[in-house]
Amino acid sequence: MSSAELASIVSESLRQDMVRYFAESRKLYTGPWRIEEFDHRRTGPGFSHEELVDCLHALLVDPGSLACRDLMMRMCRQNVPYVIAGQEVSYLRDALIRLAIRDGNTDAVSAIVAFFDALEDALAKIYLTGYLDVLSHRNDMRLRHIGLLAEKNLLIHFEKHLDWLKQLTAAVSVRDRVAMPEARHDRCEFGKWLHGEGTRIVRDKSHYTHLVETHAAMHRVVEEIDGMMGQPCDSLPIYALMKKAENYSLDIGNEIAMLNSMVIMINYNKDPMTGSLTRRSLERVMINQLEISRATETPFCLLMCDIDRFKQVNDNHGHTVGDRAIVHFANALRSYLRQSDLMFRFGGDEFLLMLPSTSYQQGWDVAEKLRGMIAEQPVSVGDETLSLQASFGLLEVSGSKTSFIDSELVNNLIKECDQRLYLAKHRGRNQIA
Ligand code: GH3
Ligand code: MG
Repeated sequence: MSSAELASIVSESLRQDMVRYFAESRKLYTGPWRIEEFDHRRTGPGFSHEELVDCLHALLVDPGSLACRDLMMRMCRQNVPYVIAGQEVSYLRDALIRLAIRDGNTDAVSAIVAFFDALEDALAKIYLTGYLDVLSHRNDMRLRHIGLLAEKNLLIHFEKHLDWLKQLTAAVSVRDRVAMPEARHDRCEFGKWLHGEGTRIVRDKSHYTHLVETHAAMHRVVEEIDGMMGQPCDSLPIYALMKKAENYSLDIGNEIAMLNSMVIMINYNKDPMTGSLTRRSLERVMINQLEISRATETPFCLLMCDIDRFKQVNDNHGHTVGDRAIVHFANALRSYLRQSDLMFRFGGDEFLLMLPSTSYQQGWDVAEKLRGMIAEQPVSVGDETLSLQASFGLLEVSGSKTSFIDSELVNNLIKECDQRLYLAKHRGRNQIA
């Protein structure tokens, strides 16, 4: 905001009043709106109400101050939603108005309203610009990660979608309607694949429907953005729609990543006894999963599962029964898994599950379900039944937190997951660690 702009909104004496109210509001503020429930990792250490008040105060004292702009840009980089600042600004506006009313200073009330109206517009504009920069940077990073993949499989189509999103971001940044990418969901490159070859490749109906609906919904959002491009419009609605489009895009990335795992499942060798993937393919598949996790910014889980005291089954009932028990165990695990989860036979009675797009908590719930299921479903051996129990080691892996994706990383992750399993065994078996 220039001095002239500020002067046209607020006279010098009212500006002095507002500076005073700002200082007072800082003391008054006890923070009913304080964002305690908001995850600190996402807000980052840099954002607080006090800092926002300081930045606005600085702007009022010196209209050329860049403090507000820097704060908005930092919020964008740290992924703090604009609404957090918006709420704080509107709380501050109310606080200042209350102080002006207390003093019977009606001129200051009008000045505060005018100042905050102009301020909200300016902040939203800065935030939108910063957000588009960050989005474009994140998009480039995802494209780079996919570019590094040895085998892109289905991700080649997601790459085309990211190119489309890149074009959208660039067009919105300069508000150029002509530069907008293909609007129709069945005519963009990704849509052409999805509605053409994709119908044959994505055979799972629920995955396919979800993908088509998400993609179409994203295009509807973009049509709305397109409608706004030609007319003067506040930055905030455009930001909200772009954020919505980005979320749909991330969802599409997740779906494609899961489908990718299914394609891999079909392509790699399987253990003849249990139908699981073999340990031989583990490294390649895991590297691929790590890269997908990095490109889609979504964690996945590794779950190591091992039958408890299995040697006794062999010793007491013989190897053939032992084999049947292993097959039963593998089938029980598989029956609960999603189509996109991958199962490897890691050793004799030890299986490693790779659960794409799964957080630690979700992974824990899966493990707990599996543990209960194994314990409750005995294996029939002739006329008898044999009860099995199993232990589980769970590890959440985030591709975006790793710098190098290589064999060494894969080995370390497997080792870490195995150590969790060992811990579960050590703590008494039939449990998760
Ligand atoms: P823990 O609770 O510590 O896991 O005890 P455990 O007895 O299950 O020990 P461990 O997992 O180390 O033992 C696995 C055993 O599985 C050793 C091996 O003799 C047996 N085994 C490995 N492959 C096969 C197989 O294909 N068939 C059968 N029947 N047994 C196998
Ligand atoms: Mg065992």
